Amino acid sequence: MEGVKALFCDTDYSWVICECLSKKLVYSADNLRAEQGDKSFPLNGVNQGDKGISVNSARTDAEAGSTLMHECLHDRTEGEGDTPSDKYIDEEAKVRVAEERWRIKWGYQ
Ligand SMILES: [Zn+2]
Repeated sequence: MEGVKALFCDTDYSWVICECLSKKLVYSADNLRAEQGDKSFPLNGVNQGDKGISVNSARTDAEAGSTLMHECLHDRTEGEGDTPSDKYIDEEAKVRVAEERWRIKWGYQ
């Protein structure tokens, strides 16, 4: 976790530690998946709100950092749309773009 924390020692992203991770429990978990109907999808992480954030234990520091960034971004991003599904998709798209900006900043592929 120390390697992951170091990735956020930047004034633009210190909120990830100060406003998100310091207020949640972070869990390492194996085989995180989402179920939708009869389909099952692998997940890198899960934001469980006040319960904490789970991160796939197989992740490297860079991958775990990206996952933590992604899950914390969900707490401060709101999707737009006419239906809950539209809002979810819009929020996920915004979070993925913001996560990608962070990954590019750190030189991650
Ligand atoms: Zn997401």
